[in-house]
Amino acid sequence: TEGDSKGEIEFRHVSFKYPGASDYILRDISFTASKGETVAIIGSTGSGKSTLLNLIPRFMDATDGEILVDGQNVKNYKLEALRDKIGYVSQKAVMFSGSVTSNIAFGGEIKQSEDKVKRAVEIAQGKDFIEKMDQQYEGTISQGGTNLSGGQKQRLSIARAIYKDPEIYLFDDSFSALDYKTDRVLRSKLKEEINDATNIIVAQRIGTIKDADRILVLDKGEVVGIGTHDEL
Ligand code: ATP
Repeated sequence: TEGDSKGEIEFRHVSFKYPGASDYILRDISFTASKGETVAIIGSTGSGKSTLLNLIPRFMDATDGEILVDGQNVKNYKLEALRDKIGYVSQKAVMFSGSVTSNIAFGGEIKQSEDKVKRAVEIAQGKDFIEKMDQQYEGTISQGGTNLSGGQKQRLSIARAIYKDPEIYLFDDSFSALDYKTDRVLRSKLKEEINDATNIIVAQRIGTIKDADRILVLDKGEVVGIGTHDEL
């Protein structure tokens, strides 16, 4: 990231329902995540956490209200330009059949750089297990990543986002399959190495979100609490 790129996110009275549905999945959500901040979203299953995250790269569009990225409504961006700013790590890690390197540098128009892949893997705490693989970074991942554990897949999909070097990271329950120690080390590495990015983290574990600048508690699509871990 360079120039005046920032990565600020603002929700202004955002509501969402599926087209044709009567019930709102999200209601009147407002918050700001400034450059470099981490905002955590917690709430019970079905409360709307993934939906909230999915509105930012416009996998769906808000029904009411506005979402601004760097002061501009997401609807006014070229989709590609908007998504270029965002590293999205989905709930279920998606792996392709191919090498470790091609899985991490996938989709990038940037020329694959070995050093960049290695750095991303190291931050994502994948170095040890990849360097134990027969062909390491050229080792093969099977379709769907069936030869990897859930936690290994999560680490590779986090590495994929880091490789992209985005201004905004969206983590949808992306640490859930990691053991506590790996989770903790990975997050502190992220903080060190990508401290200028804006992060939104959906999580279940208190440990994962304790250090967030702000925690949003969602219940049935509404924000029922907002503050730091100590305040809530
Ligand atoms: P979890 O913690 O289980 O991932 P969540 O808080 O992320 O849950 P969402 O996945 O955002 O919740 O779902 C919010 C609500 O939207 C749920 O009631 C869900 O049933 C509903 N929902 C999700 N996808 C669709 C869809 N394609 N069509 C209609 N309703 C949907």
